[in-house]
Amino acid sequence: MNVPTHSGYKVEHQCPQCGAPVTLEEADRFFECRFCRVRSYIYQKSFFRYMFKPSERTPKDRNIIYIPYWRFKGSQFTCSIEKGVRHQFMDMSRLAIPEEIGPFPMSLGLRSQALPLKLVSGDTAGTFIAPLGFKKALALMEAMLTAIKPKEPAVLRQYIGEARTLIFSPFYIEENRVFDAILNKPAGHAGPEILNAEKLGAFRPDQGTAFIAGICPSCGWDLHGSSDSLVLVCKNCDSMWRPKKDELVRVEFACAQTEPGDYIYMPFWCINADISGIPFCSYADLARIANLPRAILPEWENRKFSFWAPAFKINPEIFLRLSRQFTVFQPSPKLSRKIHGLELHPVTLPPREGLESIKIVMAVLVKPARKWLPLLPETKVTPKKVRLVYMPFEKRHHDFFSPEMRISIAKNSLTAGTNL
Ligand SMILES: [Zn+2]
Ligand SMILES: [Zn+2]
Repeated sequence: MNVPTHSGYKVEHQCPQCGAPVTLEEADRFFECRFCRVRSYIYQKSFFRYMFKPSERTPKDRNIIYIPYWRFKGSQFTCSIEKGVRHQFMDMSRLAIPEEIGPFPMSLGLRSQALPLKLVSGDTAGTFIAPLGFKKALALMEAMLTAIKPKEPAVLRQYIGEARTLIFSPFYIEENRVFDAILNKPAGHAGPEILNAEKLGAFRPDQGTAFIAGICPSCGWDLHGSSDSLVLVCKNCDSMWRPKKDELVRVEFACAQTEPGDYIYMPFWCINADISGIPFCSYADLARIANLPRAILPEWENRKFSFWAPAFKINPEIFLRLSRQFTVFQPSPKLSRKIHGLELHPVTLPPREGLESIKIVMAVLVKPARKWLPLLPETKVTPKKVRLVYMPFEKRHHDFFSPEMRISIAKNSLTAGTNL
């Protein structure tokens, strides 16, 4: 399988407590300040709004025009009747205004990954141009990919993302030409639209960013988590927290109980959802539609079932395999809320991405595909209940292994840069 090399931006923040500069990886959410030791969690509503700073050589008296780019990093899953479910890794940026407007580069390019990003703040001087919606830009990104490789016919395309980000890049006008304020080189001729920021749709990006102290709201102890954790753990009162707006809210979780042993607990989203158009309600429905080699017992008609999806980044092939295996297996372990002394793998994929995976899992399960796949685009998935469930895996030399389900997760599919 083709796993591309890791690529990501660095982001410059400020410690909310003492103002010291902090440089983080793009996926980082939780950090401890090197100077004042305060732990902070970054909350972002919907998506981050970042910008590049103009270079030092940019003339100080110019009005900087910030042009928007959407960035998507994650996997595209394509379902077709002929080829089943296939996936492709995407790490792309795309100009987020109509391209006929001006001579702006179509993507941010690789050079920009050497430069740090900054959060757009309320007091940044300059003119910000309003972006196209993310979905529209994603369709344009797809078109860019199609130009390289012809698009396969598909009944469904789903995206499981690890980054959806709006990035503003600085330009200015000099003698009727557009200058790239990072390179300080002309990008091309400025048409009348460029000189008319109003026509371009100037706006002020709202930020929706908050820094929240990493302290347990329930007992006051320090919270723990790796830098890219989406859920923080209090080891003192056995609670879990995630940020929402400017506070931490409790996360409902459960841990599968097991015999004593050397385990790592892997987090999964366990999702109950109403599915329209395709019978996917009871465990008997699942057995029928997935054509499971089992005699259907009468009590299965009333047994509700859940979709399972990894709550951690892992390469797309294994993401799909684990989702399918767990959903077919329907684990129903004895659950506990005790996490003291357990080794927990961090939650690095939000529940939204778990929900996005449901249709993909349905696409690999339904048989015959010819009958059911064409219904998927119109199928509505309405989540009813989403729980975080930690499942024990034996720590072995090269993999983590669940003896109960006979499922293995190769350790090297979990390392940084696996890209999902
Ligand atoms: Zn500090
Ligand atoms: Zn606590």
